[in-house]
Amino acid sequence: MSEKLALVTGGSRGIGKACAIELAKAGYDIAINYAGNVDAANKTVEELKALGVQAEAFKFDVSDKDAAAAGIDEIIAKFGRIDVLVNNAGITRDGLFMRMSDENWEAVINTNLSSAFYVSQPVVKVMMKQRSGAIVNMSSVVGVSGNAGQANYSAAKAGLIGLTKTLAKELGSRGIRVNAIAPGFINTDMTKDLDTSKFTDFIPLKRLGEPEDIAKAVKFLAVDAEYVTGQVLEVDGGLII
Ligand code: NAP
Repeated sequence: MSEKLALVTGGSRGIGKACAIELAKAGYDIAINYAGNVDAANKTVEELKALGVQAEAFKFDVSDKDAAAAGIDEIIAKFGRIDVLVNNAGITRDGLFMRMSDENWEAVINTNLSSAFYVSQPVVKVMMKQRSGAIVNMSSVVGVSGNAGQANYSAAKAGLIGLTKTLAKELGSRGIRVNAIAPGFINTDMTKDLDTSKFTDFIPLKRLGEPEDIAKAVKFLAVDAEYVTGQVLEVDGGLII
């Protein structure tokens, strides 16, 4: 059993891993979820335990409603509570709209948007019993501004913003806050194949973001921002001012 537990979906690598580490530093025990890369998940769990907290990795596909429900059950059986949920797991399958396959549309909508419904519903049930909790949804600046070549991803990330604001309104009276982060370009495996050198010209802070830049904002919204709900915080070096 745990005193305070944070669940980070897609917490084995990249932004999710940095969020898990930041929340562990704030004293939370950590459940990370991942899709298939066991080595990365195990390595992250070891790094978390070295910070002096309980940590465990849970492999389930967040785009599968039954798998997500079973995964949350397993986490509750192990830790007994969930205080912070970071809906972070996500993928890209980029391509121009007129050439986009049904498969790439559905994979991105299911993994980036439906996942937040599948994971949050059983987690909110737990948080409602606790009468407290905080959810942070990992949106994107392209969910605010749109992006050519990312119709599926932009639609999913915009959908997360609508979900965030609606849940903030529905759950505030139950002591549950719901916010979103909209990262700009962040140095992770997701962006490693992009030629990012050209982007820095358009970023007022003249650099890409690091996973830790997002993690600090997640910790702020999840832990410190006790009177903040329904907000979308852009963490993008000023990209879409
Ligand atoms: P990443 O490095 O590719 O890591 C993705 C993580 O999600 C991994 O832990 C992966 O698990 C997990 N995952 C993927 N599909 C999953 C599924 N179906 N079920 C469970 N876990 C799954 O990605 P990232 O760059 O850190 O991005 C994290 C989030 O930030 C995503 O939602 C992304 O859209 C968003 N974001 C990223 C950027 C950026 O520039 N990087 C910008 C804006 C928003 P495995 O290791 O097992 O594959």
